[in-house]
Amino acid sequence: MRCLPFAILLCAAASGQPTYDLLIKGGHVIDPKNNIDRVMDVAIAGGKIARVAENIPESSARRVAKAGGLFVTPGLVDIHVHVYAGTGQKRAYTGDLSVYPDGFSFRSGVTTMVDAGTSGWRNFPDFRQRVIDRAATRVLALLNVVGNGMSAAGENDPKDMNSEEMTRMAKAHPDVIVGFKSAHYSGEGWPSIDGALQAGKATELPVMVDFGRATEERNLSTLLGDKLRPGDIYTHCYSGLRREVVDGKVNPAMEIGRKRGIVFDVGHGGGSFFWNIAAPAFEQKFYPDSISTDLHTTSMNAGMKSMTNVMSKMLNLGLPLTEVIRMSTWNPAREIKRPQLGNLDVGAEADVAVLALERGSFGFLDSAGARRDGDRRIEAEMTLRAGRVVWDLNGRAGTDWKSFDYTRPRGGAGKKKQ
Ligand SMILES: [Zn+2]
Repeated sequence: MRCLPFAILLCAAASGQPTYDLLIKGGHVIDPKNNIDRVMDVAIAGGKIARVAENIPESSARRVAKAGGLFVTPGLVDIHVHVYAGTGQKRAYTGDLSVYPDGFSFRSGVTTMVDAGTSGWRNFPDFRQRVIDRAATRVLALLNVVGNGMSAAGENDPKDMNSEEMTRMAKAHPDVIVGFKSAHYSGEGWPSIDGALQAGKATELPVMVDFGRATEERNLSTLLGDKLRPGDIYTHCYSGLRREVVDGKVNPAMEIGRKRGIVFDVGHGGGSFFWNIAAPAFEQKFYPDSISTDLHTTSMNAGMKSMTNVMSKMLNLGLPLTEVIRMSTWNPAREIKRPQLGNLDVGAEADVAVLALERGSFGFLDSAGARRDGDRRIEAEMTLRAGRVVWDLNGRAGTDWKSFDYTRPRGGAGKKKQ
């Protein structure tokens, strides 16, 4: 029987075959967009979420992954990574400081990564063909205000900040470019912020700011109270490097920014998350809107480690798990104006994370190397990207080897569907 895509479920049922390709059975589903926070089953067919309901029969699926005791969430959305690898450039984010997305995404439950300004309006096409179009991970990008992005040449030359070119590039790649980035600026005045904002206004896309070196004139109050628009993203919000927290008190400029609708993002990184900033901020209820890693070769081998490790820190700082999941799925999806992501809507592409919440004695390092103890840790058990199992720590979707058909044709987990 030949089935049109929209009729595939009815067709399968009529022909007596299992309706679903995969059933994630018995997990505790947390889908903040849809206010789901209870034990349910998630059925997947044709790479899409087909059904989220209680007691979906195992016989209705070709494969069943048991998820009892685990949490089933939308695939995690990490909106601050550096993945412009493979250029051969030394000591630059546009090169050896970046990582390849698929090597670090799925093993942490991440299905969507947003590269935060590693490429700029000049070298974005190279980044796209070299990395984005080849990755199984969904990679989106914030375009740097500087032409060559985070190259060894730095991000301080106002002559290289060109909002017209940024706008043109964003309009030429609307499927991938989700906004703009100003970062690491340590010069005079506001050309980096203003240039990114001009492109943001021309395209109605958000700007993410790494505020670089703040000065008396170039300060947090002007940035958050005047320059940024509602929906623009302030990353590295617990760095303390731009007076986000002063003498244990959250800077009133941060509260003003929040009231104006500025988004606050963790952006942990190698030098942007410190317990002596985050802990008092949390005590004063200044929580992040989104959790992100600032993944690069340095941060991942130091305190940051992975998306689930950063989420674990937020959990141990006192946020409920449902909020941690919201800040890692639905919130970041909305921040980048991709509401089709970060949820388990029926019909959505089946990007799913199955997470274990481990209990025990754990230690978590900040960017200075200071440890804070915690009693819970989130670990990615299984990750699905567009319905394919791309990470399966304990082989939950696998068949026992004694009954496995080794003669069946097999494909690698990282193979991209063209
Ligand atoms: Zn970064």
